[in-house]
Amino acid sequence: MKRRDFLSGLAVTSAAMAAGQSANTTEKANSQNTPAAPQAGGKKNVIICARNGINYIEAGYERLVKGADTLDAAITVVSGPENDPNDDSVGLGGLPNEECVVELDSCCMHGPTRRAGSVGGVHDIKNVAALAKTVMEHTGHVMLAGEGASKFGLLMGFPKENLLTENSRKIWQLWKEANSNQDWWGPNMNDPDWKPPTALQADADVEDQPQYVQRLYAMAENIGIAPDRRMDAIHKVLNPPTGTINCSVLNEKGEMSSVTTTSGLAWKIPGRLGDSPIIGAGCYCDQDVGAAGATGNGEENIKVAGAHTIVENMRKGMSPEEAGMDALKRIARNYNNDMAKIKFISMVYYILRKDGAYTSVSMWSGAQEHPITFAVHDGAKRMEKCKPLYQGAASSWPPMPKVPRNRPWN
Ligand code: ASP
Repeated sequence: MKRRDFLSGLAVTSAAMAAGQSANTTEKANSQNTPAAPQAGGKKNVIICARNGINYIEAGYERLVKGADTLDAAITVVSGPENDPNDDSVGLGGLPNEECVVELDSCCMHGPTRRAGSVGGVHDIKNVAALAKTVMEHTGHVMLAGEGASKFGLLMGFPKENLLTENSRKIWQLWKEANSNQDWWGPNMNDPDWKPPTALQADADVEDQPQYVQRLYAMAENIGIAPDRRMDAIHKVLNPPTGTINCSVLNEKGEMSSVTTTSGLAWKIPGRLGDSPIIGAGCYCDQDVGAAGATGNGEENIKVAGAHTIVENMRKGMSPEEAGMDALKRIARNYNNDMAKIKFISMVYYILRKDGAYTSVSMWSGAQEHPITFAVHDGAKRMEKCKPLYQGAASSWPPMPKVPRNRPWN
């Protein structure tokens, strides 16, 4: 794109913003090939985040309006799921690794000071987004991982906490036992409390389910997973869930920041880092252009440096939607566009440009009754649908038949 076109796009957007058009309207204009380039200031407060931030986005917005720094507002939003024991993809209550240790990852970028911080594989500290910021502010480094990151957090005054909830631990146990029928995990006949799994005899709840689901159901019962949580646990064992939260913030001065925090992939190999702590993959923010973040299959996102790719695309003049779609297509290209493989990839990008235009794009639209959505607050809090590259729901990896979650027991 020539500099002249870049600047004229800028003028179009400025005029649109001055006329009070919404970010969506601006974006529609952009996708009709009148690319708007980065401009001097946002002139509005905007927060976007993954859908699990919807209950906390208001608190972040209130702080922003009162003049809080953009990164602090973003961390306010993501600390909600971090502190919530029932969000099993982030912070406290996150599903553990294969050795039953909860390992958390996070990274952040602060636009105004052009700084970054990151932590990976942290245990015993739930607020890793704030810890990533502490690395940024109180060390000469950008990234700390594993034991060193956890020790650093404790030295800096973060409370030491057991992040494993009983619910997460029991689901881990079900996963461990389900995958270990050839070894000595799980109760055996020599256990005085052993009894034949009732569900295998005749349980109306599961009698129409395949044999392996019935087996898992019985194991879940023996582990003591409550009936109303059993199918959810089975679902998580067969289809390890993704989760994570990314949040990007723009204030009226045009300052921007972005942060991503996660417990990563359930049952991962200890030490595995996904995209969330990788600056340029899980999150990227350039004060001149905008911010992007990701949730989904981290391994795929790392290979296309998704968040950085998107911000660079916008720098060259692409609209947020075009920029995000391009990153998704690069992931598909890595599999030669083979849909038999792409169907296993979940990826969502959250994109906020410096002028306030925003969007979220996803590899798949999600099931018709549960389309993939993201949260926005620009004075009004709402959920919006992501723009999908492909229609339909992704399949979970590893390949397993889908298990119904909402049958009579759930
Ligand atoms: N991206 C995260 C990871 O790979 C997982 C997720 O978003 O759910 O660790």
